[in-house]
Amino acid sequence: MTHISELDQILDVTRAQNRWRRKETINLIASENVMSPLALSVYASDFASRYAEGTPGKRFYQGVKYVDEIETLASSLVNQISGSSFSDLRPISGTIANAAAFRSAASCGDKALVVPVQAGAHVSHTKFGTLGALGIEQIFMPYDPASLNVDVDKAIKMIYEVRPKLVIMGGSLYLFPHPLKELAPHAKAVGATVIYDAAHVYGLITGGAWPNPLDAGADLVTASTHKTFPGPQGGVILSRREGEFKAASKSIFPWFVSNHHLNRLPALAITALEMREFGRDYANAVVKNARRLAESLAARGFRVVGEGLGYTRSHQVAVDVSSLGGGSAAAQKLEEANIIVNKNMLPWDDPSNVKDPSGIRIGVQEMTRFGMGEDEMEEIAELMKQVLMDGRDPHQARADVATLRGSFLSVKYAFEEKGSDISLIEL
Ligand SMILES: *Cc1c(COP(=O)(O)O)cnc(C)c1O
Repeated sequence: MTHISELDQILDVTRAQNRWRRKETINLIASENVMSPLALSVYASDFASRYAEGTPGKRFYQGVKYVDEIETLASSLVNQISGSSFSDLRPISGTIANAAAFRSAASCGDKALVVPVQAGAHVSHTKFGTLGALGIEQIFMPYDPASLNVDVDKAIKMIYEVRPKLVIMGGSLYLFPHPLKELAPHAKAVGATVIYDAAHVYGLITGGAWPNPLDAGADLVTASTHKTFPGPQGGVILSRREGEFKAASKSIFPWFVSNHHLNRLPALAITALEMREFGRDYANAVVKNARRLAESLAARGFRVVGEGLGYTRSHQVAVDVSSLGGGSAAAQKLEEANIIVNKNMLPWDDPSNVKDPSGIRIGVQEMTRFGMGEDEMEEIAELMKQVLMDGRDPHQARADVATLRGSFLSVKYAFEEKGSDISLIEL
């Protein structure tokens, strides 16, 4: 190959990333996952280079007959596994899905009730993010510290006082389901559109391990397709209501997306099929692992959030590390040991202190997908204790981390096929 130093660097750094994150680290970032080898191979197909503005059958470009076919099929598979009647796969991220859904039901100057930050609201639900960009007023629902959740009685009162256009639920630090079923009828009574943001828990929902928000009364569900749902990075809007869905779908293009990154479509369709086949086993294993990791950490003296509440019902575990140097230092130390987590604000943190919050957030979905089970959760808790509590040199702990990771290198809950004749790389 031609020797251009930058070219060598590009290839080297990409190989280093692959080796480090796929073979040497224990990845516990709660918003990440990996595609199966088959999904990954179709991701590198010719679809990656094409345009198809519009919807199947109503395009602005020629040459899209196979795009129409794959988009229609992917959408129908997504409906099958989500319990939705309609789905739009064009949002290129969860945030874009939120933008389209919010804008379809509210305009500048309207009011939105959102879950309090302490209960996990994402930045896109706030004045600092998408809601703010759209000029929609953000009003936090009341918080109940005992349940680490929305205060249902006070929130119901607030719905009738504020009479918002939108009620938005679903979260980012998300341990326990928000009270959607309890609030949705009241939101409907004042004419609000109920939007449930399933970004983090979409894979748990499709695997039946988390309440389906469409059953609980959400008009629109938005999600990322790459967090607990192990597909390509992207977003989706789901619904059972034709009117609300059509409005959301219409606001995607041309307001927030022109071309929708078509190589996502076959990868998303394959992931949907994998979830249809293996989703239940995967989602149940994720939730069990999260619970076990929380218990293992608590047993070793960590202050795990949600004590008395069973710690977690999702893929996430949150730990208060304020007495162990704070979230920032703890996350850094763990990275030196090749255990990857993110620092995170906890419900009792001062919201202005984003730089050094007191917590870390852990997600077990990716390691579960690589086949780790409850025994490995114990081992991870022990490694975290050694590094964060016992003063073990993180560089020295790396060897044990690599050994543990070394037995879990291939993606489970996925089809065996490699699809090597499909990827453009093989042409
Ligand atoms: C991650 C997240 C998003 C944003 O999704 P992207 O796909 O990263 O744009 C939206 N809402 C919630 C609750 C999230 O956690």
